Amino acid sequence: METKAAVVYEQSGKFNIEQLELSDPNDDEVLVRIVGVGICHTDLAARDMHLPIPPPPSVFGHEGAGVVEKVGSRVTKVKPGDHVVLAWDYCGACTACKSGKELYCLNFFLHNFNGARPDGTTTLRKGKQVVHGSFFCQSSFANFALANERNVVKVRDDVPLEILGPMGCGVMTGAGAVMNSFRAKPGSSIAVFGVGNVGMSAVLAAVVCGCTTIIGVDINSDRLEMAKEFGATHTVNASKEDPVKAIQDITDGGPEFSLECIGNPAVFRQAVDVLPRLGVCGLLGVVPPGTEVSLDMDLIMNGRTVMGILGGDAIADLFIPKLIELYSQGRFPFDRLITFYPFDDINKAVEDMEKGRVMKPVLRL
Ligand SMILES: [Zn+2]
Ligand SMILES: [Zn+2]
Repeated sequence: METKAAVVYEQSGKFNIEQLELSDPNDDEVLVRIVGVGICHTDLAARDMHLPIPPPPSVFGHEGAGVVEKVGSRVTKVKPGDHVVLAWDYCGACTACKSGKELYCLNFFLHNFNGARPDGTTTLRKGKQVVHGSFFCQSSFANFALANERNVVKVRDDVPLEILGPMGCGVMTGAGAVMNSFRAKPGSSIAVFGVGNVGMSAVLAAVVCGCTTIIGVDINSDRLEMAKEFGATHTVNASKEDPVKAIQDITDGGPEFSLECIGNPAVFRQAVDVLPRLGVCGLLGVVPPGTEVSLDMDLIMNGRTVMGILGGDAIADLFIPKLIELYSQGRFPFDRLITFYPFDDINKAVEDMEKGRVMKPVLRL
């Protein structure tokens, strides 16, 4: 079938909206008509070839939401007409998957960054030229995307579908870190370093969990203002004061939890240094492989924990419907992070995101 898609032809190149041919779904696949797709920094890292992906031409996009158009013969989870959010794929057979930790699948790259299905067959072409797709098993910068039954999450159909794409990555990551990884209890304290869309989702989740001290840290004063509107009890502008000292003053010795949402070694160090004994620091910020950080070993040995967290330790099929339920009750207003763009304006949306003008651009299709 034909689909419109945003194709990248060279490293760090522009997105070109073109007509491509998309394969029919295999037995275990689901064809989805995309309604809205978020743009995430990982899409841009892929465009810039900072990820282990095959060379362009490629179609990215991994925060898709849409309507099931067609399903393969063995698919039972969804049927045509169902509303779905697309999440990350996994193998289902490795030790991580068998332990219920699919986000840490040992075959993650093969299932998400292969530019093709895990068996090597490709799904997109322009005439005779192969275009790499299957990015996060979706490549949803397109009118139609092919996903696997595994990574489609069925969602209720009385919530605006075009806002739900970011649930599959950034929102799930920030909220899940607080709710699943930390299991933050009512009355607890948390400092969130970097209040972009991931950090802001963490702030919203901290409110839901009943945290009573929620500190947003950033160097952008507009974002700090927004963090307050989202429920942060305190904010620290790290360009104006030492965040470690400021947070320890606010919390009388340090917060129970800290989150690094930026991917910056100096900020990571601060997020660990700020902890009291028995405090836990979660690392969410994405960095290029090989990035090193120096930490005080003595500090960590004294009962502090540093944990790397992917996708908010969530099981997407269970967690995304819960977040949507909270949203529909008015308790998780993540949609305020979103700025919509028409699909044709994808390059403008990317530019606005890279310049920090918008928090979470979502393309409407
Ligand atoms: Zn696996
Ligand atoms: Zn992402």
